[in-house]
Amino acid sequence: MPHLLIATKNAHKTEEIRAVLAGRFEVSDLCSHPEVPSPEETGKTFSENAAIKALAASLVFEGWVLADDSGLCVDALGGAPGVFSARYAGPGASDADNRARLLAELLPFSDWPQRRARFQCVLVLAKAGLVRGLFQGAVEGGILFEEQGGGGFGYDSLFVPDGQEDSFGVLPAGVKNAISHRARALNAFQQWLSVTPDLD
Ligand code: IMP
Repeated sequence: MPHLLIATKNAHKTEEIRAVLAGRFEVSDLCSHPEVPSPEETGKTFSENAAIKALAASLVFEGWVLADDSGLCVDALGGAPGVFSARYAGPGASDADNRARLLAELLPFSDWPQRRARFQCVLVLAKAGLVRGLFQGAVEGGILFEEQGGGGFGYDSLFVPDGQEDSFGVLPAGVKNAISHRARALNAFQQWLSVTPDLD
C-alpha cells in the first residue's frame, strides 16, 4: 500500500484522514517524523496555508505529502475565525478558549438563522517541493448557543451540520467522516486518484 505523510501534528485530523483513506494509503503524520518542519502559517487563505505546509514537508520527506488547512467561517462574523480558527482566542489558545471566544462574539446573534457557518478544508498534495494537487470541501451548518457533546475537536461541539439534529461533538465519527469538509476534500482527492495513473 502506498504511504502518505499528513503534514500535521493534530492527531484528530490524522485519525479522520486515516479513516476515510483506509485501505488505500498507509498514513502517518509529523508526530512520528520530528525531522519534518511545521512552518509558520503566514497565508491569507486556506489554500496558501495548505501549500506552505505541504511544500515545507515535501522538501524534507521523500514521498507523498498531504497537508490539510481548515477552519470555521461564520457569516455573522464576516467569515471569521477562518484561517485564524486554531488561534482565534490568541497565540497558544486551546480549543476550549477558541470556542469560548466564538460563543462570546455570537452573543448579539440570538436567532438561529443568524448563526450560519461552514467548515472549509483545503488539501494540498505535494512531492519533492512541487504541488501535485489541490482538493477542497465544505460543510454548511449553524453554531449552537452552548456546547453539545465532547467528541471530536476544535469547534465540533458547537457546530450542527445541515440535515442533522446534533453537533459534530455528539454525532458518531462515521457520520462526521461521511459529510465533513475534510471527508468531502478527501473524496475529491480520491476521485482525482481514480483518473490519475499510479503515483510515481
Ligand atoms: P489548522 O491546523 O491551521 O488547519 O487549523 C485548523 C483549526 O480549525 C482547528 O484547530 C480547529 O479549530 C478548526 N477546525 C478545522 N477542522 C475542524 C473540524 O473538523 N472540527 C472542528 N474544528 C475544526
